[in-house]
Amino acid sequence: MEIFQQVESSVRSYCRSFPVVFSQAREASLFTTDGTRYIDFLAGAGTLNYGHNNPVLKAALLEYIQQDGVTHGLDMYTEAKESFLNAFQSHILEPRDMEYKIMFTGPTGTNAVEAALKIARKKTGRTDILSFTNGFHGCTLGALGITGNSSKRSGAGIPAVGVQRAPFEGYYGKDIDTIAMIDKLLSDPSSGYDKPAAAIFEPIQGEGGLTAASVEWMQGLERLCRKHDILLIADDIQSGNGRSGDFFAFEAAGISPDMITCSKSLSGYGLPFAIMLLKPELDIFSPGEHNGTFRGNNLAFVTATKTIEHYWADDRFINAVRAKCDILKDRLQAITDQYPEQINMKGRGFMRGIEMPNGDIAAEITAECFQNNLIIETSGSEDQVVKCLIPLIVAEDDLNEGLDILEAAVKKVLGSKKHFDA
Ligand SMILES: *Cc1c(COP(=O)(O)O)cnc(C)c1O
Repeated sequence: MEIFQQVESSVRSYCRSFPVVFSQAREASLFTTDGTRYIDFLAGAGTLNYGHNNPVLKAALLEYIQQDGVTHGLDMYTEAKESFLNAFQSHILEPRDMEYKIMFTGPTGTNAVEAALKIARKKTGRTDILSFTNGFHGCTLGALGITGNSSKRSGAGIPAVGVQRAPFEGYYGKDIDTIAMIDKLLSDPSSGYDKPAAAIFEPIQGEGGLTAASVEWMQGLERLCRKHDILLIADDIQSGNGRSGDFFAFEAAGISPDMITCSKSLSGYGLPFAIMLLKPELDIFSPGEHNGTFRGNNLAFVTATKTIEHYWADDRFINAVRAKCDILKDRLQAITDQYPEQINMKGRGFMRGIEMPNGDIAAEITAECFQNNLIIETSGSEDQVVKCLIPLIVAEDDLNEGLDILEAAVKKVLGSKKHFDA
């Protein structure tokens, strides 16, 4: 344990909330070196939608490794990449009538975001990207520049360039139409707003506090982009892969973003993997103009292919997820109903949480959960939202066990309802 304090950079973060050493993991459980079990409601910040060491994916991966399948191949054609493209095309894109090219970027989410920003700027010849309050898009300089969170941005060392910030839905309260505000700024040549290359948004804001964009707002954003000839980028890195109750979190709105970033749970197994989907007319990079050594993580191709074939070839999986979404919503609602003045539910689908009065209370609650063997984190501008990112494959018993721990922690920290009524 001391080695971490002695040697590992102080930039480490999640481990500070959960100071134990983990050695094994299965489904929605993590186990420490001494065998203690923790229920995992953090799930790799949304990377483990299919659980830890999913046996179906593990079997495919072991078989591939056993027969000396290509592990690293730059962006050369491999059988594993071919299978992935076929699976994604036939089970994800085609059934949704989506016509996109698939660009393999570097293996992390921020690499896919950078690629989208570069394409938007190259295509339009404009420099600014319109990004939203409380948005989070990654920690490389371009993605960081369009991120809202000032503590993340303070690490950059240079000012953010090429960004126009705009209020996300509900930023000024539910009665203010933020799309109309932006429309006015973009329509007025004297507003000081230069026409951006693209607007980028998260259908459900992950790090920013689980604010879910409504169907109407997403449709309004698309109309705004079309009206002003601005490209629309959906950052579905955290909200994608079934988390919303659909494969893509914007599907309910029926919109057609020009570019879509996908990562986190895309490999299904927690392996680094990111892609950027782009409309064919945006496929404008010349060969090698955007590059990266790890754009061909074939192990991730294998598990991603298996994930799609096993979970997305028909509706059984997503229907089971939707049933769990209802359980989660009802249980969180039952908790928030006990403190109607103080806390409220945030999010959508299986990406939900509870907004606490402040970050200190949220931190007390997550610490209490950890004492009781539940791993759960916070998000939001003041880290005030206790965030449930539970594996989609969670067994109902584990789901309820974790939610029982959360409910007890909320009661312990906020006190009983009687106490507040008195
Ligand atoms: C996590 C995340 C990113 C960045 O992904 P990394 O793999 O950490 O680079 C970008 N956008 C959203 C919405 C995310 O949740």
